[in-house]
Amino acid sequence: MDYNKKKTIKDLDVANKKVLVRVDFNVPLDKQGNITDDNRITAALPTIKYLVENQAKVILFSHLSRIKSEADKQTKTLKPIAKRLEELMKQKVVFVPVTEGEELETAVNKLNSGEILLVENTRFEDVVNGEVVKRESKNDSSLGKYWAGLGDLFINDAFGTAHRAHASNVGIAANIAQSGIGFLVEAELANLSKGIDNPATPFVAILGGAKVSDKIGVIDNLLNKVDKILIGGGMAYTFFAAQGHKVGKSLLEEDKIEDAKHYLEIGKGKIILPIDSANAPSFEDVVPTFSDTSNDMPTDVMGLDIGPKTIELFKKELTGAKTVVWNGPMGVTEFKNFEKGTLEVGQTIANLDGAFTLIGGGDSAAAAKKLGLADKFSWISTGGGASLEYMEGKALPGIEAIQDK
Ligand code: AMP
Repeated sequence: MDYNKKKTIKDLDVANKKVLVRVDFNVPLDKQGNITDDNRITAALPTIKYLVENQAKVILFSHLSRIKSEADKQTKTLKPIAKRLEELMKQKVVFVPVTEGEELETAVNKLNSGEILLVENTRFEDVVNGEVVKRESKNDSSLGKYWAGLGDLFINDAFGTAHRAHASNVGIAANIAQSGIGFLVEAELANLSKGIDNPATPFVAILGGAKVSDKIGVIDNLLNKVDKILIGGGMAYTFFAAQGHKVGKSLLEEDKIEDAKHYLEIGKGKIILPIDSANAPSFEDVVPTFSDTSNDMPTDVMGLDIGPKTIELFKKELTGAKTVVWNGPMGVTEFKNFEKGTLEVGQTIANLDGAFTLIGGGDSAAAAKKLGLADKFSWISTGGGASLEYMEGKALPGIEAIQDK
């Protein structure tokens, strides 16, 4: 994807301007409403700090989770996020508890240069008077226009929603005089481009996670770019079935067997499947038994991780790689007994010498963090869905909507 031509924050004169910024503050909250991981907030700080230092009036928009009812609005307010941002920025953040109307307009107009305002959860617009209308998520044209009317410039720094055409990204961009991308989006695009579009070779992709259906687009797009694709996780079992093997009680997508056959055929020599599997009698965290995958698996087991022989094989395949793109865990990392494959593969990638190593967000990013490997990768994307779509070679509407230089 060639997004080099997109205007960036540095191409715009932000001083004393009302700058609307779409950030991704969609952070995980516990049952009490406490933020359990503020990575996404810290990831947006370079853009916010730059705007403050350059005397912009900073007006932040973000979604938080999904809003499907009026009741959701009680638990999915951005108020705690405003507080955390205040602590991180060491300056006041004006929180406006609504997404439209006089209260918002007055607060925006009162803002001085160098001050920060956070608008309530953009997805509150998805439910109006108890009715599900999806004004934000379906990019209602009057909403994008209204929000755009609040400011002078628009910066999109929300990579996590770049694959969606919503009112708060595409809608605002379409209705404002000038737009650009923020520092986080710029870095995400530069790293994804380096890993996917201009990879140093040997280039090895490693895919896992639950479903083949989620990764078919990635396999399809990467197959003609990579030297090898290593496949683990639940999706591997559909590939074994495509080879004619029985997979016991393992995860199997019957309707994807033909696709798996097709990719095994055209990816001959490139697609590397596990040679053994770590199994349990059912979906439970017990000490595994192992089976080779060159034969049928026992009928009464479920494969929950790659086995030790596969770990060695994948280590060998990764040796010498200069680019590694990783998306999806090798097993059920939620279970202590089945995190070994992901841990060992993650460690191997993290320790590769002189390689550019990219994690495509989502579950593999969470696994890397949980396993204490987060600092060891060249780049971990903040957007699971967006980076997956980039890996599929799809255009990202949130970026497309930004003006060219
Ligand atoms: P994804 O969202 O596609 O990256 O998938 C992540 C999920 O895949 C995690 O919740 C894992 O527990 C799950 N997963 C990985 N390997 C397996 C497996 N062998 N069987 C079932 N689920 C798996």
